[in-house]
Amino acid sequence: MTRVAVIGAGPSGTAQLRAFQSAAQKGAKIPEIVCFEKQADWGGLWNYTWRTGLDQYGEPVHGSMYRYLWSNGPKECLEFADYSFEEHFGQPIASYPPRAVLWDYIKGRVEKANVKDWVRFNTPVRMVNFDEETQKFTVTAHDRVKDVMYDEEFDHVVVASGHFSTPHVPYFEGVESFNGRVLHAHDFRDAREFKDKDVLLVGRSYSAEDIGSQCWKYGARSVTTTYRSKPMGFNWPERFEERPLITHLKGKTAYFKDGSSKEIDALILCTGYLHHFPFLPDSLRLKTANRLWSDMLHKGVVFENNPKLFYLGMQDQFYTFNMFDAQAWYVRDLILGRIELPAEAELKADFDKWRAREETLEDAEQMIWFQGDYVQELIDATDYPSFDIQGTNKTFMQWEHHKAEDIMGFRNNSYRSLMTGTMSPKHHTPWLEELDDSMEAYLKN
Ligand SMILES: Cc1cc2nc3c(=O)[nH]c(=O)nc-3n(C[C@H](O)[C@H](O)[C@H](O)COP(=O)(O)OP(=O)(O)OC[C@H]3O[C@@H](n4cnc5c(N)ncnc54)[C@H](O)[C@@H]3O)c2cc1C
Repeated sequence: MTRVAVIGAGPSGTAQLRAFQSAAQKGAKIPEIVCFEKQADWGGLWNYTWRTGLDQYGEPVHGSMYRYLWSNGPKECLEFADYSFEEHFGQPIASYPPRAVLWDYIKGRVEKANVKDWVRFNTPVRMVNFDEETQKFTVTAHDRVKDVMYDEEFDHVVVASGHFSTPHVPYFEGVESFNGRVLHAHDFRDAREFKDKDVLLVGRSYSAEDIGSQCWKYGARSVTTTYRSKPMGFNWPERFEERPLITHLKGKTAYFKDGSSKEIDALILCTGYLHHFPFLPDSLRLKTANRLWSDMLHKGVVFENNPKLFYLGMQDQFYTFNMFDAQAWYVRDLILGRIELPAEAELKADFDKWRAREETLEDAEQMIWFQGDYVQELIDATDYPSFDIQGTNKTFMQWEHHKAEDIMGFRNNSYRSLMTGTMSPKHHTPWLEELDDSMEAYLKN
């Protein structure tokens, strides 16, 4: 029997499980699927952990999410086309759920699909090798509970291990003698730690924007973010400012490129993440920056040096859950032989076409349309339920607009589901006043 290994049971890996299960449900003969997951439960980053550094087994902690994390985009843009929020919660819910609500939703679909038996939890993959002669992969996994390592053979491997977990940590002059707390966003867990503190965040990405907003919301004395080329440019409230990059640190003082300085208590490095696959040899390892059209991947998922190896969710992301679905359904159909990969020259021309367009993208709006077109192309090739991508893009545009209008209030807006047509209700409490991020608090009317 054909065997497929899936590495990781986050939103991407579970999309792969659901894709195969949905084919089986419709009568197809599917391969044996084994999903290796290093954490004790599924859901990937959405499975919150208080731990930082190493876990109880000495494994690097995967989680980068923090308490009080609320979706940073409308849930309508990530909704599964085969499992709506309304189906899961039995009622329409507001548009920007906190982490626990989204985790529950991700789990709900795969619980319904009854595929938990396919997952080996607490089992990190240590190495993957490919034998040119047998054309098979050997996956070396480590059962951390029994503390046993073992090898198994597979015909295909799907890497779905995420790329927002291994921090990129640059050096800043004087940081080693800075008299305050220094941490990367990956290790940030609770904004209350920074109440009454002057916090400095390096970066202008979603992490800086959201961790900065959180620190402000939970009572930091001041929040300063720094940027390399241009500021985020939102209408920040009092006690929140943007400055150019740090030149150096001395004692508790940070010095900036414009000659100004500021005394700070904590430095949070929102300096991004690395695509890091310590379990893959050079011949199988994806090497790419975090970009919308990843290097080395045909159709955004097929490894260029070995078409039996796939990667899910490796792009920079506007689209998330339903893009992972589109990819997982596409990979499934390649494995099932329902889709044939075009010849090498055609694949290369296709890659070059997307790459050339990617390089012309100038703003978020163009990037969203780009990613939407990519998702559309994949969906058109499979039986994933088709949904209104143009409408989703337009919801993204509204979101961008709402952020520009009010960065501390954009989460109070509601949008219409592209899957069910239902308008989301307004949340009962404005985001800035809502300090409770539990599912119970969120769902109460
Ligand atoms: C702080 C933060 C906030 C975010 N907020 C949002 C948001 O509001 N909305 C949104 O849509 N997206 C958000 N994202 C984006 C996020 O990347 C996706 O939502 C999603 O979690 C990606 O799914 P994934 O399955 O590709 O990766 P992950 O969620 O990272 O899951 C990967 C899984 O692989 C497992 N794994 C890793 N290595 C191994 C190994 N060697 N062996 C076995 N298992 C392994 C991990 O334990 C994990 O379970 C956020 C990301 C971060 C970091």
